[in-house]
Parts: sequence; C-alpha cells; structure tokens
Amino acid sequence: MTSATQPAIGSYLAEVRTGLPLAREMACQLIECSDDQLPYLLATASALKERFKPTVITYSRKVFLPLTNLCRDYCGYCTFRRDATDPGAHTMTPDEVLATVQTGEKLGCTEALFSLGDKPELVFPEMRKTLKRLGYNSTLQYLEAMCQLVLKESTLLPHPNPGLMSTEWLRRLSAVSASMGLMLETTSTALLSAGAAHENAPDKVPAKRLHTIEEAGKLNIPFTTGLLIGIGETPAERVDTLLAIRELHRRYGHIQEVIVQNFRVKPDIPMRDWPEPSRGEMLRCVAVARLLIPEANIQAPPNLSAPYYDDLLDAGINDWGGVSPLTPDFINPEKPWPHLEQLRSRTEAKGFQLRQRLPVYPEFIPAAMAQGGLLAEKLKASADGVGYARRAA
Ligand code: SF4
Repeated sequence: MTSATQPAIGSYLAEVRTGLPLAREMACQLIECSDDQLPYLLATASALKERFKPTVITYSRKVFLPLTNLCRDYCGYCTFRRDATDPGAHTMTPDEVLATVQTGEKLGCTEALFSLGDKPELVFPEMRKTLKRLGYNSTLQYLEAMCQLVLKESTLLPHPNPGLMSTEWLRRLSAVSASMGLMLETTSTALLSAGAAHENAPDKVPAKRLHTIEEAGKLNIPFTTGLLIGIGETPAERVDTLLAIRELHRRYGHIQEVIVQNFRVKPDIPMRDWPEPSRGEMLRCVAVARLLIPEANIQAPPNLSAPYYDDLLDAGINDWGGVSPLTPDFINPEKPWPHLEQLRSRTEAKGFQLRQRLPVYPEFIPAAMAQGGLLAEKLKASADGVGYARRAA
C-alpha cells in the first residue's frame, strides 16, 4: 500500500473498530502495511483488545516439564529434540516431575506445562525400553500418569502439549488436564517440501494438526494453538493460518488462546542461517490476529521479543503466556524469561494491570470443570471468584 491509500485504510479500520469483520484481502494488505500505516493498525488492534478485556494483561506462572526430548520429527528450527543416542537425550522420571512441581508450588506456580517430542517410541527402541521400565506402553500413557501424579500430589494444574493426538487420547488426557495445546504453526504445505522447515516432520502436516484441533473442539476441550512465524511461510499464509484457527473457533468455540510465536535463530539448528522475523513483522502479525479474531485471547511470549517485548502490548495482545520463576524455556533455552517483577513493571508502565491466570482462562473454566473428579476439585481450589489464580502474588 502507498501513502495515497492511507485515508482509505484509516476509514476501513474505523469500521473494523465498530465491528466490521476483517476481510482476507485486507488482512493480507495490513500484514504487510507500510511503516506510515502501522500506527493505524496498532491503534485499531489496541482498541479491540480493550473492548475484549479492558485494562488487564494476564500470564500463567508455570513450571516447564520436558517429559521427554526424544522426538520422531526433525523440524528445521528445533533445538529441543534429540535422537535416543544423542548426548542430552532425556526422559524425566516420576521423581523428577514431582520434585519440579513441588518446587514450583512453593514459588506460586499454578501450571505444569508438559512439553514433549511427538511419539518417540515409534522410531526409538530405547524409548520403548524406557517406557517399559517405567511401566507404560506409550509416551501418551506415561504423560497421562504424570498428569494424574501432578493433580494428586500438588496444587498445580497440568497443560500437556504432546503433539498430534487421536480422539481417544484427547478424551483421556483432557480428564487430567486443565487445558491442552497443539501449535498449528502454519497451514503452508510448501514447508513440507525438500529443504523446507517441515521436510522431515511427519507430524507437521497441516491437515493432521487441524484434525487434532477440530477433534478437541468436538470434545469441548479448552485448547491452545497458534502460529510460528518466520519459518518460510509467506505473509498471506500467516493470514490463512489465522483464518483456519478462526474457522475452528467459530465452529466449536474451544480455542482458549492464539499464540503468535516468532522464530528465533539458534547456532545448532538446520535453519541457523535463516533470517528472524523483524519486530515490525511480529507487530503486524499480532495486530492482524487481534483484528481477525477480536474475541480471542492473543498471546505472544515476552522472552522471544526481549528487550522490546512491551511493544507487543501496543499490538493488541492480552496475555504473556507461561512465565516460569524456576525452569528455563527448554524450547528457546538461550532466551530467559523476564523476571516477573520486570514483566509487571513494564506491563504497568503501558497502563495495564498484570494478573496471574490459571492454565485455563476464566471463561473456559466451566468446560474444564465439566470433567469432574480430581481435576474439578483442584480447579475449584485454584480459581478465585473471577477465575484467575487464587494464590496470585
Ligand atoms: S518442534 Fe516439536 S515436533 Fe518438531 S522436532 Fe522439535 S520437538 Fe519434535
């Protein structure tokens, strides 16, 4: 767009502010808007955020549990995964899980985030042996037992991210989880081709991921998903990924948050020479996410935009995601989470109040409570009258 179209953009955005749904074609223009037009886009996104959840920005105080870093996929940007024989390959024991959540409990954490590789036992006999020694047949079965352990032995609430899941596993894991997650990342099938980020990642086929997210919707599971930007997709494909999420949310109403995550380069990954998305790309994508799905929780991780992460507040996010006072970000270990006091002061400097939420957002608590049992008991004990974390500091 040129500056000649600026008034047209301004008047279009004024209509979006009053409820006009953002059309795909305009979203594709806005996600590449000029620096002159960016302030109009950001102001609109901020206004929509304020209409959705005024004055408050949330975060979840969590411990990060890398249950296993063995994974059968080889994403070009991943520094987390290991083969079974690699140095650093590790599957946490129940004692390690328990020790981490109990330390987290003392630090006021309310979320146990289980992040793990996708079905490693399908390709690594060593993983099958480990699981057998622990008394389980599959990684998902072990994960289910560890979620139960967390619920039974601590006040933390599990949020597992184990990759693709069948309907049956979604059902089983949702009975022991406050919410669940699977990043869609992208709907671009071009990234599956030779030399692209998902060439060797059978679990990153967009249709398979959309299927898991849809099945979660049919089961009414509060579900986290989102985009990973800067891994080879085009700006229009970012819009299409957001539209796919919007469509599933419109159909099932279960998307509790949409994460906009930016690729960060690391020295040991196949994509180590790949350019990172700029601050401007990130702001545009977050703002377009807010415009496309105005009534969704939009999250961006602060550690991946440090030191200027507070700029994301200008683009319409209402959540910082999981921040840990204890465990590192095992997915981006070189990017430490900001200290919670710094996060609070920078959030307040922008005029917002920082609130600690649970791994399930207040408006999705009834769906999680419907599971009943120990999960419902623990949730009831953890939530305050509004649905935020009762033990918030
Ligand atoms: S990003 Fe996830 S699925 Fe891809 S290699 Fe890493 S752990 Fe495996």
